[in-house]
Amino acid sequence: MLMIPGPTPVPERVLQAMAKHPIGHRSADFSAIFGEVTENLKWLHQTKNDLLILAASGTGAMEAGIINFLSPNDKVLVCTNGKFGERWGEVSEAYGLNTQYVKADWGQPLDPNAIKAALDAGPDIKAVIVTHSETSTGVINDLQTISSYVKAHGALMMADTVTSLGACSVPVDEWNLDVVASGSQKGYMIPPGLGFISVSEKAWEAYKTAKLPKFYLDLGPYRKNTAKNTTPFTPAINLIFAMQSALQMMRNEGLENIFTRHDRLKRATRAAIKAMGMPLYASDDCASPAITAVMPEGLDAEQIRSVMKKKYDIILAGGQDALKGKIFRIGHLGFVSDREVLTAIAALEATVIELGGKTTPGSGVAAAAAVFTQK
Ligand SMILES: *Cc1c(COP(=O)(O)O)cnc(C)c1O
Repeated sequence: MLMIPGPTPVPERVLQAMAKHPIGHRSADFSAIFGEVTENLKWLHQTKNDLLILAASGTGAMEAGIINFLSPNDKVLVCTNGKFGERWGEVSEAYGLNTQYVKADWGQPLDPNAIKAALDAGPDIKAVIVTHSETSTGVINDLQTISSYVKAHGALMMADTVTSLGACSVPVDEWNLDVVASGSQKGYMIPPGLGFISVSEKAWEAYKTAKLPKFYLDLGPYRKNTAKNTTPFTPAINLIFAMQSALQMMRNEGLENIFTRHDRLKRATRAAIKAMGMPLYASDDCASPAITAVMPEGLDAEQIRSVMKKKYDIILAGGQDALKGKIFRIGHLGFVSDREVLTAIAALEATVIELGGKTTPGSGVAAAAAVFTQK
């Protein structure tokens, strides 16, 4: 049972769709599927912008976003409050961009006013890069407010929405997000291997003069081919089958229901952890809908993960970098229901008790159940 922030559980029906023999990608049959998938991804992104599909993980989609619309030495503002924000700084530096930072401590959200101040001080900033849901800490940033400041400034708004898309509303058009990147193994209910990127008209304007080198990730050919329901290179055909099936499930569930389900899973998980007497790493007002980070004071987070895996076959994520051993992270993203959260919390209670932690048996399950049975 995978309770990590990617890869996430894959529905049986999606696995079946993937198990088909590949078909030729230069065929009418494939184009029909590809067109349907692209349309449904736009629905999920709430956008009329181009939506391009890459054979890449989320990092590949973000790299494409960074390199297609900028030139060497362009000034970019990278906003970091965790591991993934730091990664986009590394990509920017690797490509020789003039990389400026606005930082917040791990576990804290980005301060939109600090970003506004940096924008006011930097009229020549070309792009602002923000990780919406910072998976390393379980913090969600106020992308909507940040994006409004970026729009007023005129820079391009580039967002990593890898663990927010499919978990909470990311209205790409309404929030004026120019470049939005995500990956298939998170909120999309399929295995790793596809990257998604949406591109606004304003970003395409910048593309015309952008000079960073690119070839496989040059989004121009993807745009041209996507308009004809095809791809510039061989697509990950079976993952497209999977995506078709998963998107049909999402359309059946409906956007609002998907978002309220994730919100409920988040609230139940947090209520359970609090009731068990364990501190949460992120506070309530900036808690990611995809993942909950827990600091089990007095217990080794890695030991908890180890017992959860060995005894209950439930996989939790650990902490990264300085947080290793200090936190564990419970993913509740994608194909996850109340049942998985109740099961994980029950196993966690038993694990904590086995390791000599102080918690009242049943307290976590009762708190989660109370959220799930709220009228
Ligand atoms: C998983 C993740 C990514 C992408 O990682 P890949 O391993 O390249 O798929 C990017 N950003 C965030 C916030 C993530 O959680």
